[in-house]
Amino acid sequence: MAEKILVTGGAGYIGSHTSVVLQEAGYEVLIIDNLSNARAEVIDRIAEITGKKPDFTQLDLCNSEDLHAFFDRHPDIAGAIHFAAHKSVNESSRFPLKYYHNNLAGTINLLQAMERANCHNLVFSSSCTVYGQPDQLPVSEEAPLKKAFSPYGNTKRMCEEIIRDQAEANSLQAIALRYFNPIGAHESARIGELPLGVPNNLVPYLTQTAAGKRESLKVFGQDYSTHDGTGIRDYIHVTDLAEAHLKAIKRLLKKENKASAEVFNLGTGTGYSVMDIIRTFEKVTGVRVKHEITDRRAGDIEKVWADPGKANQELGWKARFGLDDMLRSAWKWEQSLKE
Ligand code: UDP
Repeated sequence: MAEKILVTGGAGYIGSHTSVVLQEAGYEVLIIDNLSNARAEVIDRIAEITGKKPDFTQLDLCNSEDLHAFFDRHPDIAGAIHFAAHKSVNESSRFPLKYYHNNLAGTINLLQAMERANCHNLVFSSSCTVYGQPDQLPVSEEAPLKKAFSPYGNTKRMCEEIIRDQAEANSLQAIALRYFNPIGAHESARIGELPLGVPNNLVPYLTQTAAGKRESLKVFGQDYSTHDGTGIRDYIHVTDLAEAHLKAIKRLLKKENKASAEVFNLGTGTGYSVMDIIRTFEKVTGVRVKHEITDRRAGDIEKVWADPGKANQELGWKARFGLDDMLRSAWKWEQSLKE
């Protein structure tokens, strides 16, 4: 019998790619999603790619009664991968309580339901935002956590701490994965990132500009201390991230973890500037991106890239895709949205 893995937020961007990889590896995937920022068709797309429809329940993690009932109906879940959360940095600054309530209550309810159901393996979706602007680059897991620039970032750090405390006090075994900048889409272009409204992130804004949906891409600042003055990030293909989640849940199921709460950085280890991204996109697609330099965006850090050495050595995971592939797949996905 295939082991059952619960994926919260499995209809979302990273959750859907991870559900595909889990099903392809032979796991039975159960998805919970409240569809607040995702579409139900994504479940059919996962079925189209993998040949198997995951079990889907529309459920809000803030509703603990429904969540307990869900675990009662599925008493044999081997582990959970927890993505479900609000994720807009910008919106979180305007509506902090919405973010603290949803992201913290959802995580606490999930931990309580898992404890009650004797389900002890959890992979948590975290972010490099917990490092703020690190003092040293590349940034390793040993770097001190800094006050985040947004309520969203704070929720990621606080959830990590709640999970670590629960793992220390109880039988929970947890891995937090700190993503750098996820971009790109599944090679089939049947699933990808679906930004509602005006995208905040660079690559969705860029592909929408290239597609003619946006007038011009604003490059936020050209006076940073970087090779061309624009901000540097470590962009990582969403398929590589999905594969890291598979490795992480397997590590827990096989009891190969070295501590009850572990953290791993997920990045390529290479940083690219905003102008590098624009130039590379133009090179691989042949499409020009109209852009203009504007002021810095409030709250942005100058540069960050990962030391992925711990994930490389201990998880046996390494990013396979380079920037050309990431941007090509992001463009293929954007073009599929027109059809
Ligand atoms: N960026 C930009 N124009 C945009 C969106 C982002 O120049 O329309 C820059 C941003 O300042 C940062 C990089 O692109 O240097 C990545 O930003 P994103 O919002 O994608 O990720 P994050 O800020 O969370 O790292």
